[in-house]
Amino acid sequence: MDQILFIGLGNMGFPMACNLLRKGFSVTGFDLYSNIQSSFEKEGGKWAHSLEQSANESNIIISMLPGGKELKNLYIKNQKLFSFLQKGTLIIDCTTADPEIIRQVAEKSKKYFLNMVDAPVSGGTAGAAQGTLTFIVGGAASDLDRARPFLSAMGKNIFHAGKSGDGQAVKVCNNMLLAIHMIGTCEALNLGKALGLSTKTLSEIMKVSSGNNWSLEKYNPCPGVMKGVPSDREYEGGFAVQLMVKDLSLAMKSAKSYGQSPVLGKKAYDLYKTHMEKGFGKKDFSHVFKQEKGK
Ligand code: NAD
Repeated sequence: MDQILFIGLGNMGFPMACNLLRKGFSVTGFDLYSNIQSSFEKEGGKWAHSLEQSANESNIIISMLPGGKELKNLYIKNQKLFSFLQKGTLIIDCTTADPEIIRQVAEKSKKYFLNMVDAPVSGGTAGAAQGTLTFIVGGAASDLDRARPFLSAMGKNIFHAGKSGDGQAVKVCNNMLLAIHMIGTCEALNLGKALGLSTKTLSEIMKVSSGNNWSLEKYNPCPGVMKGVPSDREYEGGFAVQLMVKDLSLAMKSAKSYGQSPVLGKKAYDLYKTHMEKGFGKKDFSHVFKQEKGK
């Protein structure tokens, strides 16, 4: 039987691991914040008291970390972890990170006779909870085939983007667009509010008009318009502004390396960075709805 070690049980990782448990997989969880342990055990998961020992007892490693720095610490700088993994173990990394770091981890994996795919996700915390995430996979087709049963337990759409790191490259483009349409949606709703419109009615009309987009339809940033989204709970427990800043900085880095200069992407990066510096780094990224006028 497959034994999964799930590393990183945050806003995304926790509900993803719970879906694996619900589908009958055996999952051991590990997070630097051990206060998650009791909630994970209540869901039927085991807790890794020693990362290396649990790694040794697992044949599937799934990681969902904040970003490239944490990924590097876990897989590149940690000298012990790989030597504890059994040959043939499959690493499925779902973190959004620099494609270059992913390729470094994939190279190191090969040296230890391990297999690795990058499988960043789209769909947010609601998609993670409902098991409807989209996985964008980079790596060998045979490794994706092996990863498929686990990804299917956590998501609805699985795409093979190409070679190792290409899942991340797609994710970087997607999140630059996400940031841009979230900002645009906030601006349209704030303008409507200033014009004395009901933001609920405005949203209903734009959803079936040419202004429709994912931020408006699934993630309305205006409090009181939609239930179950971060704007309905003080912008807590979603996709943090600081993670969006990370993703946009990856987009800017990639654009620079390939001679591109996306104008709106750069503006979105500056806006989110300023929002983070104002102390809103941990709020959901739809909190830009609250940014001060004209700033
Ligand atoms: P999060 O900060 O809520 O969770 C990350 C978890 O990783 C934390 O619990 C942290 O303690 C843990 N962690 C960090 N370093 C670790 C280590 N070395 N070992 C074990 N655990 C470690 O972040 P999140 O919102 O769950 O996002 C995770 C990833 O998914 C990010 O790369 C993000 O960009 C991406 N993502 C998030 C969303 C979203 O809506 N939140 C959507 C799509 C993609």
